[in-house]
Amino acid sequence: RMLYYKETLEPRIEAIRQLQAGLNMRGLLPLIKKHSEEFSKFFVFNAISIDYFQFVDEFKPIFQPEGSNKFIREETIYKYFCDYVESCNSSDNATHSLSDVCQFITGSMNIPPMGFQPKIVVKFVHDCDHDCQCYPEASTCAYVIKLPVHINSLQEMITKMDEAIINAPFFFKG
Ligand SMILES: [Zn+2]
Repeated sequence: RMLYYKETLEPRIEAIRQLQAGLNMRGLLPLIKKHSEEFSKFFVFNAISIDYFQFVDEFKPIFQPEGSNKFIREETIYKYFCDYVESCNSSDNATHSLSDVCQFITGSMNIPPMGFQPKIVVKFVHDCDHDCQCYPEASTCAYVIKLPVHINSLQEMITKMDEAIINAPFFFKG
């Protein structure tokens, strides 16, 4: 992140300051800040918001054989997970956007035009220690997310995913 900052942002900081000052002079800056979503398309290259259904379509859950106890548990966990993603899409109170979730899992803030190759594998972690404190875990280089099956509610999924994303080492909330 530091390297990115030095190489990409630092040479532009003065230009950004001047742009800010210019916008401020015309009273535009507060407006832009207030409506950053609408204005982002003018400033951010390719700031397409991710479509929920398209995103969920990128997931490939690896379930145990149908009918087994593990499968039943995994289906529930996967539903919590998809509901979490949905809440990031539609809830005004969501901590993270779909782009944040996408970045957490894949390192990329957008779905590539042809989709992820390979698709995002969703794995389920069984057999945790009784008093474990584990969180959903992503490996961005392999497009894998691991979900512990002891998550017991949608609310717990929301809390754990939100915290996992905030604590991800590369996560950069601008
Ligand atoms: Zn655990």
